[in-house]
Amino acid sequence: MELKSAIIQLSREIGIDKIGFAVADNFEYLREGIEAQAVAGNQAGFEHQNLDERLNPDLIFKAPKTIIAVALAYPSKLTSRPKRTNYRRGQFASVSWGIDYHDILQTKIDQLIEGIKALTSDFDYKAMVDTGELIDVAVAQRAGLGFIGKNGLLITPEFGSYVYLGEIITSIELEPDQPISLNCGECKRCVNLCPTDALIGNGKMVAKRCLSFQTQNKGEMPLEFRSKIRTTIYGCDICQQVCPYNKGINSTQHQDELAIDLELAYPELIPLIKLTNREFKAKFGHISGSWRGKNVLQRNAIYALGNARDQTAVDFLVELYHTSTREDFKEACFWSLSLILNSEASAQQLLKK
Ligand code: SF4
Ligand code: SF4
Repeated sequence: MELKSAIIQLSREIGIDKIGFAVADNFEYLREGIEAQAVAGNQAGFEHQNLDERLNPDLIFKAPKTIIAVALAYPSKLTSRPKRTNYRRGQFASVSWGIDYHDILQTKIDQLIEGIKALTSDFDYKAMVDTGELIDVAVAQRAGLGFIGKNGLLITPEFGSYVYLGEIITSIELEPDQPISLNCGECKRCVNLCPTDALIGNGKMVAKRCLSFQTQNKGEMPLEFRSKIRTTIYGCDICQQVCPYNKGINSTQHQDELAIDLELAYPELIPLIKLTNREFKAKFGHISGSWRGKNVLQRNAIYALGNARDQTAVDFLVELYHTSTREDFKEACFWSLSLILNSEASAQQLLKK
């Protein structure tokens, strides 16, 4: 069997859902757009900061020939809900359900690498999952895994946009795959239904308007976004949920590996806010939504209590206001109490007592 076919076969045995091969040429065609986004202040700041390295595989790997792009599909719907308790629950976006995908995908990429090493002695490589230099969606598109939608996500025909992406740069020359010919056509659903008008309509976004960014950004969240997160304390699924390419898709083949715990996907808000650092790490440390630490999620959980108009949270919020040493928490308590009591004056009065 020729090497490329053997690698594809191997990837199937490992449980990688899609694999594609791209020439390791530069991605300089993206430079102008990215620089314009930076000048306009539209970037999140979470991306790799060296643009030359993001666009040029040969700056991060000696003599690259091929980039092997892989995708792992993840579930977008949970068929059951956690049991009802005395506490209001929030939720994480689907990308953060279960064990951190970086770990699961990295394990599969490591297995693929070991398998390729057994197939050829001449294999130099550099592997990446999400936090590497290259732009995952651009690599995946070139390798034929899918197309980039107006929501900026990689959309595969089989699994929609609910895929984790990773790649391996290698010195081996393998026949490249062709980009697929699908596209969004006239559809603009994600652009029109994004609650914060974050999407520009050309696959780019004003990252600082995106709720996914806002739920991960530390400090006080700007007022205009707080109600829009509703009770989602990490991420946002809306521009995926409304996409016709995602209709009816729920990929459950890795559900066992992801070990999704409903108690974590839909956490009780007040118990989450009460967690110490140590308790938070023990409980949530293995999910990807914990990467920014506990404080930002606890702040979001306080906003979520307000958005849920949770009357049972009033005493808790008053106590937290008086005991917390964090200004963003105090301010969040006041904001949420104002919503629950339907009056800033009432919240102020309650907090004076
Ligand atoms: S993730 Fe949410 S806020 Fe961000 S662009 Fe999509 S719909 Fe808009
Ligand atoms: S919702 Fe429509 S415009 Fe947005 S990514 Fe999906 S197909 Fe494209």
